[in-house]
Amino acid sequence: MSLLAVGSVALDTIEIPSGRYEDILGGSCTFFSLAASHFAKVRIVAVVGTDFPEEHVDLLRSRGIDTAGLERAEGRTFRWSGRYSATLAERWTLDTQLGVFAGFQPKLPAAWKKPKILFLGNIEPSLQRAVLEEVDRPELVAMDTMNFWIEGQNASLKKTLARVDLLVINEEEIRQLSGEHNVVRAAASVRQMGPSKVVVKRGEYGAILFAEDHAFAVTAYPLSDVVDPTGAGDSFAGGMCGSLARAERLDAAAFRRAMVMGTVLGSFSVEGHGVERLRTLTTEEVEGRYHAYGRLTHVEGI
Ligand code: AMP
Repeated sequence: MSLLAVGSVALDTIEIPSGRYEDILGGSCTFFSLAASHFAKVRIVAVVGTDFPEEHVDLLRSRGIDTAGLERAEGRTFRWSGRYSATLAERWTLDTQLGVFAGFQPKLPAAWKKPKILFLGNIEPSLQRAVLEEVDRPELVAMDTMNFWIEGQNASLKKTLARVDLLVINEEEIRQLSGEHNVVRAAASVRQMGPSKVVVKRGEYGAILFAEDHAFAVTAYPLSDVVDPTGAGDSFAGGMCGSLARAERLDAAAFRRAMVMGTVLGSFSVEGHGVERLRTLTTEEVEGRYHAYGRLTHVEGI
């Protein structure tokens, strides 16, 4: 199935226990597409400024990602900076600068208007809708967002939400969006806002899919060394949507496998700072960890 993604392509500055990294490659669309590229051809819609190093575009292309919808505009690239606590359990956004995203009007190449799966990555909600309006109704519209937009663009975010099938969101953010502390109640409340399916990401505790008539839970893959959680959520979404695109099916069994692939890609993403681990990741390693995950969670006769 064809897979189209919109989201941020960014230069991130992060402070993690291993050090400070300035203006490194980041962005929701970047992590998503690198993760999904192990399963499907990904087309991306985003904008970068004149300061964006060409070698980053080369990295995306080297993974087979189609960058024909990645515009280069006059101005500065989107920048985000964040600081993590010593245990990586907490994160503070220090700064968000929209740069060229502020005036971005996505233009899709003519051949891109019929994606089967559309991922609206974390970016301004009106921009997510602009992409939705450019395409014929896909079979699956998935979406991610974060506190920045829940707080700053709540009404617009809800308009986008009303038009999607699947929301992938972290625990803290779904609490904020729904006003409910309990995640089961929070997911039920958000499902009333539009998406028939909601995935709640719970960091090292895994993720839960709440669907029409069932729920499905995965644990995170146990790792002894976590370096940088940045982009784990987008990598999860990329693994998930990529897996669905490769399966060419959107039934419950395909979603279960996709949840595990999301978990696997999220786990690789946190093993290096920024996109470093995804840069060298091979599809063999992805498949290997997918099978290891199967052994980790297998229960005979259940
Ligand atoms: P995650 O850790 O999955 O929440 O994703 C972090 C990535 O999201 C970073 O690489 C940032 O560049 C990007 N990001 C942070 N804030 C925003 C925002 N307000 N809009 C779009 N992308 C953002």
